[in-house]
Amino acid sequence: MNVLVVGGAGYIGSHAVRLLVDAGHDVWVYDNLSRGHRQAVPEGRLIEGELSDRATLVAALRDKQIEAVMHFAAFALVNESVNDPALYYRNNVVAAIDLLDAMREADVKKIVFSSTTATYGEPDVVPIPETTPQKPINPYGFTKLVFEQALADYAAAYGFAYAALRYFNAAGARPDGTIGEDHDPESHIIPIVLQVALGQRDKITIFGDDYATPDGTCVRDYIHVDDLGDAHLRALERLEPGKGLCVNLGTGRGTSVREIVEACRAVTGHPIPETMGQRRAGDPPELIADARLAKQLLGWTPKYTDVRQIVETAWNWHKSHPKGYAKS
Ligand code: UDP
Repeated sequence: MNVLVVGGAGYIGSHAVRLLVDAGHDVWVYDNLSRGHRQAVPEGRLIEGELSDRATLVAALRDKQIEAVMHFAAFALVNESVNDPALYYRNNVVAAIDLLDAMREADVKKIVFSSTTATYGEPDVVPIPETTPQKPINPYGFTKLVFEQALADYAAAYGFAYAALRYFNAAGARPDGTIGEDHDPESHIIPIVLQVALGQRDKITIFGDDYATPDGTCVRDYIHVDDLGDAHLRALERLEPGKGLCVNLGTGRGTSVREIVEACRAVTGHPIPETMGQRRAGDPPELIADARLAKQLLGWTPKYTDVRQIVETAWNWHKSHPKGYAKS
């Protein structure tokens, strides 16, 4: 299939691009490089542009005879969305609708969208099934939910075929070490802990150990970035006009912050000093996917079920690219 990967220079998008290429698809990346990295995109496959630049986007869709779009071009930092909601509504909603309308103009109606567990807010039931009411607690989650709704409406009215894949905690890197996670600033637990192992930070601050969880630290469902990519490829093959596939992508297993730090110690052989800090505002104690629907509808099961394996792939990337893409 001819696929346009919007936001394909970013962390998760770039991994999906490699898997699409591996599977024999003809892949193009459309990205403004505001947060992505040119080096993450295969040579000659990048089209630089804004989602709001209708002419460039429609030309790309037509010239490359695109049949489906994968949309990874949203901003994804909760704190930033609280401090600057305009940025999030503009990029994650307004520009994303521009993308849908460019697709209508070019008559491309298949789309796989990166959604998020943040659309559920603080669910009462864990593991979290897709039937959980979507009640986001921050602008980031709201913008993703608004776009999910837009997709449902575009499917009903215009015959769009879509998948909204609700990620849990994306982690790890392509095992060959060629691409990986490089955010500035970095806020995610695994890269931050590995920065301690690299000597770039003195210690890891654990954000609270007084939660109602087995060891008192927050529990998350860490899902390998290639498992996410694999689910995208499967979703692509199952898109149906007028319909939406809305599924969780997680392992169904929870890992505490302490267990992450332990896994990083085991993988890196570094002592990784830690300190106990305050709770981070808005952190639910436990987020674990009920991932049965993805298995049922996509035939998908994650290959990386042990968080240590996920950390190993992340370490492989970070130790060979200690400064990320910039100076490696
Ligand atoms: N966390 C932490 N110290 C850090 C960064 C994160 O204790 O320096 C915790 C955070 O409070 C959460 C978990 O690690 O419970 C995962 O956080 P991350 O930002 O990676 O992902 P999120 O679950 O917020 O999407």
